[in-house]
Amino acid sequence: MARIGIIGAGISGLTLALLLREKGHSVRVLEASDQPGGAIRTTRDHGGWIAEWGPNTIIESSGRIKRLIAMLDLEGRRRYPDVSAKKRYIVRGGRMVAVPESLWELVRTPLLSRSAKLRILQEPFRRRKRIVPSSQQGGSSLHSVANADFHANDESLAGFVRRRLGDEFLKWPIDALVGGIYAGNPERLSVQHAFPRLALLEEQHGSLLLGQLKGGIRRPPGSDEIPRNKAEIFSFDDGLQVLPETISNRLGDSVSLNSRVAGIESAHAAPSGKIFSLNGRWKITFADPMEPPLTFDSVIYAGTSHGLKTITMPDRLSETVSPVAEVPHPPVVSLTLGFHRRDIGHPLDGFGVLVPGIEEFPILGTLFISTLFPNRAPDEDHVTLTTYLGGTRRPEIAEKSEDEQAKLVLDSLRTLLGLRGEPLFLHRILWSRAIPQYETGFGRYLAMMDRAERDHPGFYLAGNYRTGISVGDTINAAFDLADRIDRDITGNQKTSLL
Ligand SMILES: Cc1cc2nc3c(=O)[nH]c(=O)nc-3n(C[C@H](O)[C@H](O)[C@H](O)COP(=O)(O)OP(=O)(O)OC[C@H]3O[C@@H](n4cnc5c(N)ncnc54)[C@H](O)[C@@H]3O)c2cc1C
Repeated sequence: MARIGIIGAGISGLTLALLLREKGHSVRVLEASDQPGGAIRTTRDHGGWIAEWGPNTIIESSGRIKRLIAMLDLEGRRRYPDVSAKKRYIVRGGRMVAVPESLWELVRTPLLSRSAKLRILQEPFRRRKRIVPSSQQGGSSLHSVANADFHANDESLAGFVRRRLGDEFLKWPIDALVGGIYAGNPERLSVQHAFPRLALLEEQHGSLLLGQLKGGIRRPPGSDEIPRNKAEIFSFDDGLQVLPETISNRLGDSVSLNSRVAGIESAHAAPSGKIFSLNGRWKITFADPMEPPLTFDSVIYAGTSHGLKTITMPDRLSETVSPVAEVPHPPVVSLTLGFHRRDIGHPLDGFGVLVPGIEEFPILGTLFISTLFPNRAPDEDHVTLTTYLGGTRRPEIAEKSEDEQAKLVLDSLRTLLGLRGEPLFLHRILWSRAIPQYETGFGRYLAMMDRAERDHPGFYLAGNYRTGISVGDTINAAFDLADRIDRDITGNQKTSLL
């Protein structure tokens, strides 16, 4: 058994704590805010409206996610969206167009011109571009990690899509999708890091279309990954916060809220500066000087990447990881509005609508929340819509007042959804640093994090700035990391017995 300190009670830190405790270790989660869950938080209004602050759904992308829900006895509270929420819309020419779901619909859709459709059909005949994985480029010294050319083979998503599917496919469906997932810019995001499955489809099959027809990317034997086209999305009866709340309740006293970590110290540093983690070698200090320091055998930093620069660390560790704090996070505003159903001209028969940057709307997209989960509105005569603003595309909108932002959203919804009335409910959250952007050259940050862990045994980094931005990605990564930490500890204990 080892004593493990975990900084941050977002879904990464909480899942790690639960899994490591299952493996017999003693865990302590230290969270700066007064609530567990990090970006996952739900407001349940007395009038019957439910609004999410951050994510609205989780994609069930692996058997491990199902296992976590089962471990927590949450299967009875899990909610899959209503079948009526399957359709997705994208704006083209100022109006909403349904995303084609079959080859026949693709042929007929007004979302793309005839020449763009022909370009897509020619995709299997385009030559592949060979991309050398960034893991093969890592330098052996700190100097070379910082200076290795991690941009050399790292193609932007825009470059990749333009090359394989054409400019029109990039400007409408892809730009809309990237706005909806990353609130980001396809010209800046790395296809290899932000959309690794696309890069792998090309690498393995030479074509995205043929790759899809052949069943998608090849998974390693034993993988429990569920293919994206088969993976369902879900939430819980009372909103997504049910998940972190339940994990936190299970962990009980092992979670300390209002405990902002200010420093990580290593009790033993060799003259080379290499830090050894022996029993109780990691000391954690708190921003509140009244909070006594704690010591651990291992420490996991599961906070945000920008939070790294607010924590003091041993010099060499700080030198290695502090650049990771520079990973860009554009601001995003999440505005949830409630209306009388009769005030909306559109049937809201789908998941929502995404807006490409080329269209004349200030919003990134709107989710038809009460179509997905009817209990998010007080009754069937009311509807709930969540709209996102800002992102890399329009960061200045995040600076505007709540009234100005609400006006931008209401004007957009009037045009797109035939909205007539005024909102009955409003819930707004500004995320000044919302989602990490895996831009080209992101491999250098991964190399720094790998190096920090290699040089400082017992220190680990976890979270959406490393292993994927979705909640599903962070849960999957927590399973992998918990196994790795357990193996490291077992290995260390065997070595110290010899
Ligand atoms: C607006 C928005 C919408 C999103 N929509 C979706 C979606 O629909 N589906 C999806 O899958 N994902 C979505 N995401 C992404 C997803 O929510 C996050 O990537 C994920 O929740 C991150 O979890 P995490 O534990 O890695 O980090 P976080 O949730 O950021 O948790 C980090 C925690 O560490 C704490 N912390 C930081 N520094 C310290 C310190 N010094 N001491 C103690 N504690 C500290 C923080 O307070 C925080 O609680 C969305 C995100 C946002 C912002």
